[in-house]
Amino acid sequence: MMTVRKATKAARSKSTAVSEKAYNPFEIAQQQFNRIAELLGLDEPTRDFMRNPVREYHFNIPVRMDHGGMRIFRGFRVQHNDARGPCKGGVRFHPLETIDTIRALAMWMTWKCAVVDIPLGGSKGGIICDPHNLSAHEIEQLCRGWVRQISRDVGPFMDVPAPDVMTNAQDMLWMLDEFEKIHGAKYPGFITGKPVSVGGSLGRKEATGYMVIHTVREALNEMNLKPENTTASIQGFGNVAQYSLDLYHKIGGTVISISSWDPADNKTFCCRKKTGIIFDEINSITDPWGTINRRKAQDLGYEILPGEAWLEQDVDILIPAAVENQITAETAPKINPRVKLVAEGANGPTTPEGDLILDQRGISLIPDILCNAGGVTCSYFEQVQGNMNYYWEEKEVLDKLSSKMSSAFYAVREVSKRRKLPMRDSAYVLAVDRVARACKDRGWC
Ligand code: NAD
Repeated sequence: MMTVRKATKAARSKSTAVSEKAYNPFEIAQQQFNRIAELLGLDEPTRDFMRNPVREYHFNIPVRMDHGGMRIFRGFRVQHNDARGPCKGGVRFHPLETIDTIRALAMWMTWKCAVVDIPLGGSKGGIICDPHNLSAHEIEQLCRGWVRQISRDVGPFMDVPAPDVMTNAQDMLWMLDEFEKIHGAKYPGFITGKPVSVGGSLGRKEATGYMVIHTVREALNEMNLKPENTTASIQGFGNVAQYSLDLYHKIGGTVISISSWDPADNKTFCCRKKTGIIFDEINSITDPWGTINRRKAQDLGYEILPGEAWLEQDVDILIPAAVENQITAETAPKINPRVKLVAEGANGPTTPEGDLILDQRGISLIPDILCNAGGVTCSYFEQVQGNMNYYWEEKEVLDKLSSKMSSAFYAVREVSKRRKLPMRDSAYVLAVDRVARACKDRGWC
């Protein structure tokens, strides 16, 4: 069963609390940008233009609650850069949402779209709320209220929202419906991540995980390794992890361990089977939020290990596919000496200090803005199909996705070889350069 509403409250709260204490994500995103701008020798006006979002919207969303009283929620939309095309980015629901998290994510969306060379810019939105404590009717009012406040500044040719943390296909449909009511016509290209029955794209649910493995296959090829001779350990068992495991097994690899958040215990745990995880078996004991039933896993013969054990496994490949801030100065030294490749399914799983250690240890990396970009690329395909009101077969979607991801992988690899840079810096150099050129060519800086 694949995930519906993203990330458990406990898991997100924990990771946000950690990240808030440790760092401000927007400051990190700006520092990353400054370093790459220096490498590229960008002039000051271009740096000033790209270091901050082009536009931000902050607004109130009044909702009449089921008990009859009114509650005012705070909503946001940040458009970081639209030089290469309409903005694209998810809408998050989270009780600890901050404008700086949204600014950072909007900036990262700009780079992600540029690295896979799709004609889109980057944006992100959110509402400070906890959907676990809201009824379906209240969530519907929130979705419609968010669109009412921003409807003049988003749209299929301006800024296209999508699901993100704790928002889902149903929420996207309510948002689409409100947008179409306001504008008096049908605009299926306004929003992506819709149900397939109402304008969603085939292949979207598989896109991110499958394309993580597509990039893994390209990297193994470069390393002269055959997938069938490799093993992997994955952190998480949500949408990205499940489809990564599925395709990796189909191409002959063996995943020996996966991990999950345990809301009952408020901590993570790892399930290991040295002969290989059996996907259908584990999937049948996993809830829609990617939580594995620990007791049932034990009954099925899986070893239960502490959550951190996922990166200590004797495997060739590590795939962090859960939350940010996992491969750090403290954890990176614990990575097993056999590990040759880290493929970042999650956004921001490795800190700059973690990066340095991977580099020193000679472990190859497929950085997040490349590795998990299959998701936004498929969302772009959904937007294109919606604008045409003509929908493609699943095979066509997946073939186009594979072709885009291979081109992006080799473009980043080429920068890495030519400039003798690590893969993450190479992906950023490629992306920032493309966006800077578009801004300059338009005469914006
Ligand atoms: P999800 O909510 O479907 O699954 C998250 C999984 O991580 C769950 O199995 C949960 O139990 C587990 N988890 C949570 N905290 C954990 C922890 N501390 N240790 C171990 N496991 C933990 O989420 P998803 O959609 O699979 O997204 C996972 C990551 O991939 C996120 O960083 C997300 O931003 C990124 N991403 C997702 C997509 C997409 O299309 N879904 C696209 C690009 C990037």
